[in-house]
Amino acid sequence: KPERTRKPDWIRVKAPTSPAYHETRKLMRDKGLNTVCEEAACPNIGECWTKKHATVMILGDVCTRACAFCNVKTGMPRKVDVNEPQNLADACAEMGLEHIVITSVDRDDLPDGGASQFVKVIEALRRTTPNTTIEILTPDFRNKHERAVEMIVTARPDVYNHNLETVPRLYPTIRPGARYYASLRLLESVKRLDPSIFTKSGIMLGLGEERLEVHQVMDDMRSADIDFLTMGQYLQPTPKHAKVIEFVTPAAFNAYAAIARAKGFLQVASSPLTRSSYHAGADFAEMRAA
Ligand code: SF4
Ligand code: SF4
Repeated sequence: KPERTRKPDWIRVKAPTSPAYHETRKLMRDKGLNTVCEEAACPNIGECWTKKHATVMILGDVCTRACAFCNVKTGMPRKVDVNEPQNLADACAEMGLEHIVITSVDRDDLPDGGASQFVKVIEALRRTTPNTTIEILTPDFRNKHERAVEMIVTARPDVYNHNLETVPRLYPTIRPGARYYASLRLLESVKRLDPSIFTKSGIMLGLGEERLEVHQVMDDMRSADIDFLTMGQYLQPTPKHAKVIEFVTPAAFNAYAAIARAKGFLQVASSPLTRSSYHAGADFAEMRAA
């Protein structure tokens, strides 16, 4: 049987060294912002930060959940930073970003799950840098999702992203705090409330999912009217996290992409190093121009 879990060549990435990478890093520190690029130990950080593309993580760097694939710290989060929306908008303006991705840890401790902070961030960005397109990547807001989604949709982000992460069978071990159908319903409700907002979701591959299960997730997403799909290889951040069951080949990623396009997604990104926010700005601009 071939070795399927040793890191293959197509996963290796260069260490980040460019001056633009260091500038992005300094700006994030100066503004007191956290990024998912660093927290998730994303392999694309050298490339993205050189191109001044980052995913900012609001509401702190401590999460109330502990998903088996995620490198973010778990615990009792700190108080919400009231200066965060404006600091983030200033950083975005300083970097001259055309597109920004905003995400957050799960804040099951807050009465609105953190939805009002997403709204304040969107408002600050619209005021400060009106030409930047805004993509938000939200948690599932557990049992508060109806109100949370309503609030955020009213603030009108350009893209509403929420990741399903994996196939439903693997939820109990990989995403134990979440429910597959609740996440699907969340995305469906965004589209129902405002069809002009693009919806987006993604899954990681290599956690032991079967091909037909992936096809089923695509069908579920299309029945929830999800527009954009991302698929990337799961990488184990530390030995404590869920193991990689398989390194999916680039050819298999391409085959999934072809099937996804045939199922009607407006945009599909599928490759070993694809992440939810990888090339998000360029892809979005291209899609709008088409
Ligand atoms: Fe950051 Fe996303 Fe790029 Fe990774 S792919 S470095 S998380 S912007
Ligand atoms: Fe990581 Fe999000 Fe899970 Fe928190 S809820 S542990 S940030 S994936």
